[in-house]
Amino acid sequence: MDRKEKIAIAIDGPAGAGKSTISKIISKNLKILYIDTGAMYRAVALKAIREGIDTLDRDKVSEMVNNIDLKIVYSGESQRILLDNEDVTSFIKTPEVSIGASNVAVIPEVRLKMVELQREIASKNSVVMDGRDIGTYVLPDAEFKFFLTASVEERAKRRYNELIADNKHNVSFEDVKKDIEYRDKNDSSREFAPLSKASDAIEIDSTDLSIEQVANKIMEYIEKNG
Ligand code: C5P
Repeated sequence: MDRKEKIAIAIDGPAGAGKSTISKIISKNLKILYIDTGAMYRAVALKAIREGIDTLDRDKVSEMVNNIDLKIVYSGESQRILLDNEDVTSFIKTPEVSIGASNVAVIPEVRLKMVELQREIASKNSVVMDGRDIGTYVLPDAEFKFFLTASVEERAKRRYNELIADNKHNVSFEDVKKDIEYRDKNDSSREFAPLSKASDAIEIDSTDLSIEQVANKIMEYIEKNG
């Protein structure tokens, strides 16, 4: 594959479908930037929580996001997210922030601001960007679009194992599963840029596949069609 041209790869899907791990593998293989857009919504939620703003309060969150200073920087291969110049990357994975992110992501003013930032990065770099609306809304002209799915049970299992491995979170499997179900419903039913598969995206159900198998499928497709 000749990759002199700038390319964009969109990887969408529900929480726990393996998007971020797979996107990191693809970005490493192709030596292009990985943009985790979920981290941006998470940082907005973190700011609201810290300021005592209800993440469901559209007016207050919209006002807050007007003045937010959010930057994505890279430390080696890892994406760091700076909120008002503080590196908050390690504070945004908690279950409270996950739910908050799904709440603020319903608010059009929040989405417009995040999308502006995402498009700006993609206009200057080749990217693999993961999220919910990348193929449908953020980068509708992306050269490659994938939509990853897996059963709720399997996604909850993966997210639970991740949180436990992190050793910082005291959560039960049932709570993690409820969190995923809440976010699935919220993300799919919102009016503006909901979670949905782009008509030209390739869907991969990863319930019975390993991360490597999914990454290989995607790499093979890109190599063949690039
Ligand atoms: O991908 P991640 O689970 O970190 O995303 C956190 C939340 O941010 C999601 O549940 C979703 O509500 C929101 N999100 C979004 N659009 C994106 C990325 C994330 O609405 N492109």
